[in-house]
Amino acid sequence: MNNKSPITILSVRSLSVNYGTVEALKDVSLEVKDGEIVAIVGANGAGKSTTLKAIVGTLKEYNGRIVSGEILFQGKKINGTPPYELVKMGISLVPEGRRVFPSMTVQENLEMGGYILVNTQWSIANKKKLFVNGQSSIKKLFVNRYSSMDKRGSHSSMVNSQSRITNNQLLITNLAKIFDLFPVLKERQNQKAGTLSGGEQQMLAIGRALMLSPKLLLLDEPSLGLSPNYIEVVFDRLKEINKQGTSILIVEQNARKALEVCNRGYVFEIGGIAFTDSGENLLKDERVQKAFLGFGK
Ligand code: ATP
Repeated sequence: MNNKSPITILSVRSLSVNYGTVEALKDVSLEVKDGEIVAIVGANGAGKSTTLKAIVGTLKEYNGRIVSGEILFQGKKINGTPPYELVKMGISLVPEGRRVFPSMTVQENLEMGGYILVNTQWSIANKKKLFVNGQSSIKKLFVNRYSSMDKRGSHSSMVNSQSRITNNQLLITNLAKIFDLFPVLKERQNQKAGTLSGGEQQMLAIGRALMLSPKLLLLDEPSLGLSPNYIEVVFDRLKEINKQGTSILIVEQNARKALEVCNRGYVFEIGGIAFTDSGENLLKDERVQKAFLGFGK
């Protein structure tokens, strides 16, 4: 963790969430400081995923709602902000179950993660056509687009063109970074995502979330369904991503692994947070050992 800037990047204050009449979360407060890896662990049904859904603004899809409390990202209240706005602000989610686009290639999946930067004025139809036509190389796509803009030569198109070139470069740079982090994705860049193994799909989902250089990466159960080998790889890569400057909040069933890599952890019990401490201390805590690490049973 970067100790130089202990600024709070995410702050959840006294959050209560209901699904209909079901009280899923009651008065939950937690924070992620800049440069930290924070883990949320705890019992099934304790509200871990609900906390993430509240942060990323997807509660409505599940008939849930924030009853009280607030969520701040870099000091700005984000309650109810839609996911696409959060992405622009610097929050990316790696959802439970990866949700890669199975019929698209690895590279196309990664490009989808960078869409917002391409050109927000493009029509949805154009975007669809883009992928139907299988023009998957970011370089080819965006460089072609810029040269046609340049030919028009008006001041505004040149300004737009300039910003697109910057975006283009950012996407190309990020794609290269992701391939460095996950060399297997480079090897498989033309393979359909649906044919990847679970571990490879998880790496792809993480890579896709990194395409816009998020300040905060949220992960819902990244180890779910992975072999022990892949769990090691995924958590090792998360440490590397964090080292490169991204703060991370992980919701995880695999308490041992999450607590091993995190700076701090929150242990949830039904409806709220039971206790919190450094990952190191939580691993030694008898309550955690008994309930989640298989000790003393
Ligand atoms: P798990 O580790 O089993 O995924 P969790 O800690 O992530 O559990 P949540 O999924 O956040 O827990 O669920 C918290 C509570 O809210 C549970 O009692 C659950 O049954 C309830 N809940 C979750 N989603 C809904 C929903 N869409 N409608 C009604 N109740 C829900």
